[in-house]
Order: sequence, then C-alpha cells, then structure tokens
Amino acid sequence: MTQRTRPWGYQDPFDGKKPNWQLHPDTLALRAGLSRSGFGETGEALYLSSGFTYDSAEMAEAAFKEETAHHLYSRFSNPTVAMFEERLAALEGAEACFATATGMSAMFSSVACLVKAGDRIVASMSMFSSCYVVLNEILPAWGVEIELVDGNDKKKWADALAKPTKVVFIESPSNPMMEIVDIRMVSDLAHKVGATVIVDNVMGSPVLQKPLELGADVVMYSATKHIDGQGRVLGGAILGSKDYIKNSVIPFTRHTGQSMSAFNAWVMLKSLETLTMRVERMASNALKVAEFLSNEKKIESVSYPFLKSDKNYKLAKKQMRGGGTTIGFKIKGNKEKTFKFMNALRVIDISNNLGDSKSLITHPASTTHRRLGPEIQLQMGITPNLVRLSVGLENVDDLIADLKQALK
Ligand SMILES: *Cc1c(COP(=O)(O)O)cnc(C)c1O
Repeated sequence: MTQRTRPWGYQDPFDGKKPNWQLHPDTLALRAGLSRSGFGETGEALYLSSGFTYDSAEMAEAAFKEETAHHLYSRFSNPTVAMFEERLAALEGAEACFATATGMSAMFSSVACLVKAGDRIVASMSMFSSCYVVLNEILPAWGVEIELVDGNDKKKWADALAKPTKVVFIESPSNPMMEIVDIRMVSDLAHKVGATVIVDNVMGSPVLQKPLELGADVVMYSATKHIDGQGRVLGGAILGSKDYIKNSVIPFTRHTGQSMSAFNAWVMLKSLETLTMRVERMASNALKVAEFLSNEKKIESVSYPFLKSDKNYKLAKKQMRGGGTTIGFKIKGNKEKTFKFMNALRVIDISNNLGDSKSLITHPASTTHRRLGPEIQLQMGITPNLVRLSVGLENVDDLIADLKQALK
C-alpha cells in the first residue's frame, strides 16, 4: 500500500527545476537543505535512528573509508541534522556547518578543536559567563594561555594581537551589556598573526549580523536562543569554511560526542522557516522598548546598540542590520528595588533564557552571570541594579504598558 513514486533517499528538493538565480536568505530559510524521501513529503522527515544499515560488508567498508556518502552513526551525522546544517549554512552564507547539542558545546568545540597546550587565545572581556569559564578556567587548566581585552579599545586589541595568537574569540553584541566589537578591525589585526577569528553571534542572530562578511572566519550559535526561539529545545551550531569544519571541527566532535539530536534538528528546521520574521519583529519591538526606557526617569541607563545615545551606535549601524532583541538597563536604586520591579511585571516572565518569542527578564548578577563573582561582574558592568530584557513578539504597546506599571 506504500505510495512511493521516487527512489529512497531522493535528494533533489527542486525536482530538477533548480532556480537559475540566487535565492534570498528568507527563501533559503524555507527551501535550503530539504532532502525528501521517496514519499515526497512537504514537511522535513524526522529520522530518529541512531545507526544505519548496509547492503553488504563491502558497502560498510566503503562508507567508513569515505568513498561513498552514507550516514554511519548519528554521533557523526544524521539525515535530519544534515538538513538543518545545510539550511543554516545557506542562511548564514557559510560553506559548511556542524550542529551541536547545545550552544556551549558549539562554543567549546569551535575553540578547543584549534588549540593545544602552549597556544594563546585573545578574547573580548564582556561575555556570557559559561564562555568565560571555558576560556578562563577550563582551557588554562590544559595549558592554554588567555588574554582578555576591553572590546572597545583598539589599542588594547593591537597590543594583544602583536604576539603569536591561535584564536580570537569575540562575543558581539555581548550578553548582557550589548557591547559591540568592531569585527572587521579585530579580524584584520588577527589575520596578520595568523589567528582564527571566532564570533559568538548569539545576540546578533543570523538575521541581524553576518560576521563572515565582516572578516571573521567562524560563527557559532546557541540555537536554543533565536533559532529555536520558542522555548523548546537546546542546540548549537558552528559555521565556517569546508576545510575548518571537515578537518578541525569534525575530527574533534566526532570522538567527543557533541552532536545535535535528530529530534532537536527537526524542531529547529521548522524554526528556521520563521526565523527572519520573528527576529525582525522582535528587534523592531526592542528598539521601541529601548526608546521608551531611555525616556523614563526611574531608569539610570539603557544599553541597546541602535539607540542614538548608545556609545556603540555608529559601529553597530555599520555592522548590524538591527540592534538585537535584547536590552540591558539599570534601575535607579539597589538590588532590592530591582527585584521589586521585576516581581511587579504582569506580562513579561522572569526567566534566564533569551531570544524567545515570549518576553523574558533576567537579573544577570544573581543568575546567569552569578558564577563570575562581584569583581569580574563589575569589570563587565554587571551591577546589582542591571536587568536584561529579551523582547518577544507580543504587541509592543502591551510590553511598554507592563514596564510602565511595574516602574510605578
Ligand atoms: C546562551 C548563550 C550561550 C550558550 O548556549 P546554550 O545553548 O545555553 O548552551 C553561549 N553564548 C551566548 C552569548 C549565549 O547567550
């Protein structure tokens, strides 16, 4: 009773009618990577299979020798995960992608696959606390040297990159302070000493910032954030040249087991279809909320790169297509007052996630960035009166009304 009109493993989503023009990113987000089975399904198939079979022992041997393209084992590759990787690579404009279980496995693998004891990493100071722990505690325990610089200070970058350096790691915009690093300027300096530039583009998202076009070599994501963006699954991705993914990332991840689950890839394939729409709306909501906050008397300061008053406004306008979906702002007062404000919100949820379709508010000093301790927090500008607001898809007037009543 099977209605199968095409052979199994049918690979051509355009059915021989491939467009002879360059498709736009938002079209690619729906179409790229689609690999239909013989049933010709519209929705991407979920291949929940840990392993794969071979018609003969010879076929298995040829697959392991990489003489044929055959999925071997889902720790290495999986058809659903491969569709996600291809779609995200097309959207990013990258040659290749490897999908990982979480954003942190992407961050860790993207750096660790390049360094050995004695190598040196230079990174911008302002970053997500787990990235900080990887660079300042875990890798140094294995003999890797790390130097942190103020991301806004060109002279500090030039000094740090005068010495031999293996990796430069940039988080821009940074979480939670939304600080911007000049990716072009740092990439040019880094390439002079032969370093690989890795950008954590979580806060930028594939929609608002294209680090590879700005000179970076590698982009990494927590796909948990905007890419799923609907509070369901964890995931991550590393994107770069074919050579880097094939010869540096995969030999490392294949044996250390960082791979994304097929189920999560299937969820995120669907998420990619609406990513552009969601992120554009969230960023336009965020700009309106940031403008509202910057005119409120009870607010001490607002960090949002597309606010004209922001210290990074010019640079952000040059390298981003939108100011992001997240705002850092400080309440006039202490931690107690800040908690009181958060507790008074009626629509916006208190949560430590971001990039979600629902608006979420976080107190970084006591939660996401608690692990850093007060001294490093202060260096990053994370004070007890700072909150991080991830702006979602709600009607922006409801978000402003909620903030207004809570500030009262
Ligand atoms: C959340 C986040 C990560 C880590 O991603 P997970 O999916 O939670 O592992 C890395 N970098 C930044 C900037 C983040 O916001």
